[in-house]
Amino acid sequence: MVTFKLSSIIRDVPNFPKPEILFKDITPLYADPGTLKECVDEMVNRFRDLKLDAIAGIEARGFLTGVLIAQALQLPFIPIRKAGKLPADKISTSYELEYGTASIEMHRDSTRPGMQVLIHDDVLATGGSALAAARLIKESGAQVAGFSFLVDLAFLGGTPKLEAFGKPVHSLISF
Ligand code: AMP
Repeated sequence: MVTFKLSSIIRDVPNFPKPEILFKDITPLYADPGTLKECVDEMVNRFRDLKLDAIAGIEARGFLTGVLIAQALQLPFIPIRKAGKLPADKISTSYELEYGTASIEMHRDSTRPGMQVLIHDDVLATGGSALAAARLIKESGAQVAGFSFLVDLAFLGGTPKLEAFGKPVHSLISF
């Protein structure tokens, strides 16, 4: 049911941020508190039985729904940010973009060894940023418990890459 609503609420923006890219704009979801709550409830129910200790959200849109999931499960939220944004002692990793590389960072003290962490973002495209986030979590000594997305762009093949972790990979809707 929520999948059906989500499919009509997500806006396709062709040629953004560059030609040939069909951008899945989820900002209309943030303007619809009822559907947003249904989406969060659905994600929370999906992961309620996993033994989780924290939710890690990837900057920037992964923060918006990630905090809501963490709050609903009464778990800590871990921000995974673009390089240069986090103020305290941190660990970082780089990953390949279509052109060039990007770096993301996490505060060193945001996990404890063995902690089970769910990684969350709005859209799963190639899986590069989620894989990089998983590397950070593992480097910190914590464990990746699974991956959660609102949208999977299935034709880009991210899900099979993440399934190699042997942990649940869940998206509310797949295109
Ligand atoms: P990736 O690392 O390739 O999985 O890219 C994931 C990140 O890029 C996510 O944080 C998305 O927000 C964003 N992204 C990539 N492609 C799209 C797209 N077609 N529509 C919306 N967001 C996208």
